[in-house]
Amino acid sequence: MSARTWTAVDDYIVSSLFDADAALDAVLAANRAQGLPAIDVSAAQGKLLSLLVRIGGAKKVLEIGTLGGYSTIWMARGLPADGKVVTLELDPHHAKVARSNFERAGVSDKVDLRIGPALQSLAELSRENTGPFDLIFIDADKPNNPNYLTWAMRLSRPGTVIVCDNVIRDGAVVKKDSGDANVEGARAAFALIGGEKRLDGTAIQTVGAKGYDGFAIAIVD
Ligand code: SAM
Repeated sequence: MSARTWTAVDDYIVSSLFDADAALDAVLAANRAQGLPAIDVSAAQGKLLSLLVRIGGAKKVLEIGTLGGYSTIWMARGLPADGKVVTLELDPHHAKVARSNFERAGVSDKVDLRIGPALQSLAELSRENTGPFDLIFIDADKPNNPNYLTWAMRLSRPGTVIVCDNVIRDGAVVKKDSGDANVEGARAAFALIGGEKRLDGTAIQTVGAKGYDGFAIAIVD
């Protein structure tokens, strides 16, 4: 099966199950116009994140890796009126584009965007006692996955859901010595989730408009 089929099926999923969403289309268009890489989650994945927020009744969401805020907006839309997404981004240009996208999508009041290395922002959140978060989405620099998972656990409570994106990497995750830091980051996420008694998790392989990849999902016991 080809990437063309995967994309066609993703289009079918979206056109069959969601209302057309001009605001989200405009967000993606702005991201591309501003030179951001096309590494946002797909629409189907964004909707899944939004549903996870709703299914878990989440009010406090943490995202590590904002880019132009496409996934942030999906999650913000799943929140109740008094809910909040804290999203962490290193690159000031990405953050600037994200802020204008939050305005465009009408979710600015639900988003707290922090600019800087995520490890610093996470320490800041811990000092501020901002947690515990109900759902944490990890989607930044992959070599830091184990550090982000460790922080996610510190900022969690029993029942917190943790989702970690891009852990399959075209199947390269099975290679022990790939020499690829992103693959090593994915493998480290598996090792941490599998080895940590407080985490109960799985991973799902996915194909779609974004190719062959997948996400890990875990609940904190
Ligand atoms: N979650 C976004 C979405 O689906 O729309 C995509 C995020 S993109 C895959 C990863 C983002 O993480 C990039 O914008 C990148 O600048 C950011 N990033 C990379 N290293 C980071 C770090 N150390 N701290 C915070 N953000 C980082």
